[in-house]
Amino acid sequence: MTGRTILMILLLALIVGINAQDTTDPATGWISFEGSINRIGHRVFIQGQGSSYQLFLLPQRALDSLQIELIQDEKLAVAGIVLGPGILVYQIFKAEVVTQLRDSEGKPVIFVPGGVEVAPSRCIGCKLCVSQCPVGAISFVQRKAVIDPAKCIECYICSEGKPGGFKGCPVGAIKGK
Ligand code: SF4
Ligand code: SF4
Repeated sequence: MTGRTILMILLLALIVGINAQDTTDPATGWISFEGSINRIGHRVFIQGQGSSYQLFLLPQRALDSLQIELIQDEKLAVAGIVLGPGILVYQIFKAEVVTQLRDSEGKPVIFVPGGVEVAPSRCIGCKLCVSQCPVGAISFVQRKAVIDPAKCIECYICSEGKPGGFKGCPVGAIKGK
């Protein structure tokens, strides 16, 4: 094998390795991303390749049913759709096991309603949370925010905010059940 061939093989391996860690299709928003888990409050992030995304998973009870536990600093990969500051996760690749969270149409493989709700007596109707929800689960009814439990993925952006931006409900009206 010539030096030139070895160089070509090494180059190809490098390209494949990079693609396995972080590939994005700008046309569809589909991303494969490898990194380390970082948990902040209720929220789960993945950090790697100089980027950080919040993971939009499924409600905790659905993750429990799928026996998915995401541990601080653990290395894994996810595939899904980029949605605002996060990834709507379809698949988790962990220790050579692939867990499917959503089908090809984006529907959760296990339906468990989200457990986040608004206390109407505390909500001041500022609407700040509505535009922040990545899945459009918050609507307004009689000047109060209301969360659709069938849509909520328990990302906790509405209550806890997101890095460098929205700080969460200013009056603490949104809580996990
Ligand atoms: S951010 Fe809080 S106070 Fe404002 S609308 Fe949403 S729940 Fe109500
Ligand atoms: S309602 Fe709140 S916790 Fe549920 S998906 Fe929307 S922003 Fe996330």
